[in-house]
Amino acid sequence: MSFGGGEACPVCEKKVYFAEKALGPQGKSYHKACLVCTACKKSLDSTNLCEKDSKPYCKACYGKNFGPKGFGFAGGAAIMHTN
Ligand SMILES: [Zn+2]
Ligand SMILES: [Zn+2]
Repeated sequence: MSFGGGEACPVCEKKVYFAEKALGPQGKSYHKACLVCTACKKSLDSTNLCEKDSKPYCKACYGKNFGPKGFGFAGGAAIMHTN
């Protein structure tokens, strides 16, 4: 699909103009207002954006749900780093 030079926002599928553009997962163009954490709806920018399955997450939710080392669910004694 071509939108005549502009890119469509994956969230609302409307064209993203330069002034409102925010770079989201996979380098796609989002509206700044549309680029929010999938889990907590916090607004995101390049400093706190993480992605999972091409969906945007904030760092806090990403860390809580997906990582950084496997699943950070309770306990956490399973993986020890030995240097
Ligand atoms: Zn949008
Ligand atoms: Zn979040």
